[in-house]
Amino acid sequence: MKDYYEILGVPRNASQEEIKKAYRKLVRQYHPDLNKNNPEAEKKFKEINEAYEVLSDPEKRAKYDKYGHVGGDFRPPPGGGFDFDFGGFDFGFDPFEDIFERFFGGGFRRKTEDLGPKRGADLEMPLEITLEEAFRGGEKEISVPRWRVCSSCGGTGSAPGTSPRTCPYCHGTGRIEERRSSIFGEFISVRTCPHCGGKGTVIDKPCPACNGSGRVREWRKIFVNIPRGVDTGTRLRIPGEGELGERGGPPGDLFLIINVKPHPLFERRGRDLYYKLKLSFPELALGTVVEVPTIDGDSVELKVPPGTQVGEVFRIAKRGMPNLDGRGRGSMFVEVSLEVPSKLTERQKDLLREFAKESGIKVNEGLSFFQRFKKGFG
Ligand SMILES: [Zn+2]
Ligand SMILES: [Zn+2]
Repeated sequence: MKDYYEILGVPRNASQEEIKKAYRKLVRQYHPDLNKNNPEAEKKFKEINEAYEVLSDPEKRAKYDKYGHVGGDFRPPPGGGFDFDFGGFDFGFDPFEDIFERFFGGGFRRKTEDLGPKRGADLEMPLEITLEEAFRGGEKEISVPRWRVCSSCGGTGSAPGTSPRTCPYCHGTGRIEERRSSIFGEFISVRTCPHCGGKGTVIDKPCPACNGSGRVREWRKIFVNIPRGVDTGTRLRIPGEGELGERGGPPGDLFLIINVKPHPLFERRGRDLYYKLKLSFPELALGTVVEVPTIDGDSVELKVPPGTQVGEVFRIAKRGMPNLDGRGRGSMFVEVSLEVPSKLTERQKDLLREFAKESGIKVNEGLSFFQRFKKGFG
């Protein structure tokens, strides 16, 4: 049996804040966008969401603590395929409510139906961009998911041409009364109808477009504006691009968590960029002028003075990342390293040996003392 606390890696007495923190961390780790074609991560991600759905809600959590996991009967969110569930979704029904009511009685509880306009839920998703995109900023087209009422069945969940039928067990009331006689008298217990789960209607032929849930997931393409200089972890708020509101309520907001991909040439540290420049020994010793690529796409001339040491760092001002406030840029740092040739011609070897001799450097070319000793007499 899965343990929700174990799944989120929090102690049983964890605070809501700790649970939220653990959840966010795991979501970033196992999100399908970052784990393409990884069914293991997808399974884990679903588990994480299931656990968070329960533990983030004090009422559900209390029930879970009391009764444990309601295995097997958990109804996954509708829509099929992969579901983004960041806890803010409203599935239009509460699967846990049904299950708990059904299995543990607890009497019938009428949900106080809020009929006023309801704002749509906020949506949070990661957005991976390149270092170049973070540098340039500007518009980017992305796909965003959103629940909408199934147009095939009009939201009833019943296949086109059919309609939900009044539940024959509870006659549409969603509740069942049971009378029991005992020596103490007659007891009447009222519980949620197990046949329709309290909805009062049953669907004989589920709508194939939405699997009977009455809603479908829709992917829309929208343009978002990437601010120049964003970094990993930046949270962008896109107003009105979250879930749709209900009964005329406004839509929720979309939050994009930026993740800047590693770059093959530049390493980013805050607003500065680091570039590793490989040079040969003659270049370092004699000095040279080289072209160094920049994030701008062009290159700059760098003067390497004679006698430059490995590890020396040159700073090229105003060639780093732009400041988020739009003013100024960081620097580019060029760190010098030495590239040693692994293959040499005989002439190159001789020249190097001569150089070593001239410099008073004793080179021990892989021979042991005795080998050299013998060579000396040979
Ligand atoms: Zn439908
Ligand atoms: Zn019923």
